[in-house]
Amino acid sequence: MHVLLATSELNPYSKTGGLADMVAALAKGLAGPAGRGVLRISVVSPLYRGVLGSHSGIEPTPWRPAIRIGDSLVEGRFHRKALRPNLTHWFVEQPGFYDRAGLYAEAQRDYADNAARFLFLSRAALVLARHLPDPPRVVHAHDWQTGLVPLLARHEQLQGGWTQPPRMVFTIHNLAFQGSFPLSSWDLTGLPADWLHIESARHHDRVNFLKAGLTQAQAITTVSPTYAREILTAEHGCGLEGLLLKRYNDLGGILNGVDTEEWNPATDPDLPARFHAGDLSGKAVCKAAVQREMGLPQDTAVPLLANISRLTDQKGSELIASTVRALLKAGEVFQFVQLGSGERALENAFRDLARRFPDRVAARIGFHAALSHRIEAGADFYLMPSRFEPCGLNQLYSLRYGAVPVVRATGGLQDSVVDPRENAALATGIKFTPYTEAALRHAVLKALALWKDPAWLGHLRHNGMTADFSWDRQAAEYVALYESVCRE
Ligand code: ADP
Repeated sequence: MHVLLATSELNPYSKTGGLADMVAALAKGLAGPAGRGVLRISVVSPLYRGVLGSHSGIEPTPWRPAIRIGDSLVEGRFHRKALRPNLTHWFVEQPGFYDRAGLYAEAQRDYADNAARFLFLSRAALVLARHLPDPPRVVHAHDWQTGLVPLLARHEQLQGGWTQPPRMVFTIHNLAFQGSFPLSSWDLTGLPADWLHIESARHHDRVNFLKAGLTQAQAITTVSPTYAREILTAEHGCGLEGLLLKRYNDLGGILNGVDTEEWNPATDPDLPARFHAGDLSGKAVCKAAVQREMGLPQDTAVPLLANISRLTDQKGSELIASTVRALLKAGEVFQFVQLGSGERALENAFRDLARRFPDRVAARIGFHAALSHRIEAGADFYLMPSRFEPCGLNQLYSLRYGAVPVVRATGGLQDSVVDPRENAALATGIKFTPYTEAALRHAVLKALALWKDPAWLGHLRHNGMTADFSWDRQAAEYVALYESVCRE
């Protein structure tokens, strides 16, 4: 079976968050053991600025589709890279749309033509799906940027002579981002006006790309079982809970895995020393090195806490800043490292914290993939107090790298971390529930107590480092889903 994954981000070429990691790792997992080499996997994503310059093996093809956007035909060009005989990355080049400084935004402002940019991506995915010599049986679209894919395919089937379009699977990585545009943007799609209604893409007098995917795909998944339940509630449903409840039978949650080639402390080329569950001496070297790199005193006796994230309300960044401040003011002894970028006020809050406690707090504002590996390797504890968290990847990376996660019990955090109160023998981290500074403070104090109990800390760390979050198991669940939508 051939499956085409359509995505706006793909690690290592383009990334703002977990979507990029997930799609790249899923594709590898599907092409490898989970698909037992019999699945053929193609992935399509935009050719953003800088991709050709920093990655080898991407070849231009003569295929230059002309894609209708509103009244114009916009020409693109496909490039491709064959990673394995059964795994191909396709890139769609359209300099006017994708040769820009950001993926979705610049200077914190979304590009004004994002509807056209991602309509173009969705149509390009369908050009591949329809005209590849070995057409896919399933297209698996991800998030709002490719939400129109199932709707556009249906239109081509009913009115464009596409007799056997592929089955459609749609994955929600974050329901809070919906691709909501003014009604006038419907004209860009070229679809008839009567195709825009509340059972397709219309939502509160807007065009909603995500809703198009949710209403039209044969199967819907999200990235953890707990988030799949949470999004059926008003608290987490972002206004789409009613629709999701209607599609309950077609909705499931599959926890993301980890790309164990990229995230392996025993082989990671970004680390100054390597380590594994049986020998943590390299982790001490990594801790001292990251303390030095971040300008903190090199002292392996002080517990090192960390967070790497988009700085936003979703991730609990404000809670982290206020809790770290309160605990340090109260004289608790630890260091804290923040890597991230996002809302200006939060960036400033962490800069300010680092100025106030120069021996205790270091903040690096920006996006640095290699540094994120070194921080995971050096940290003793990883804070993730998300307000909501569809899956979350950093807690999984932290488990593998021996940074005990301190997480809020929501979404994928609930599904991937085991608190001693749930199961002492299998415990891997510390969980708390209320989204309050008091609850996070209490959880961090537990972590600091754990630090003073090396045997117990070693137990949690060992459990986390040896837990299996490889993609083999999860990819097999997607294979079963693809097979089931093809049988329907
Ligand atoms: P989300 O997709 O909601 O942002 P995830 O936890 O699913 O959150 O994935 C975030 C990914 O982005 C992780 O791989 C994380 O390490 C990475 N990341 C986030 N911010 C940064 C940053 N400033 N520098 C490097 N990597 C980052």
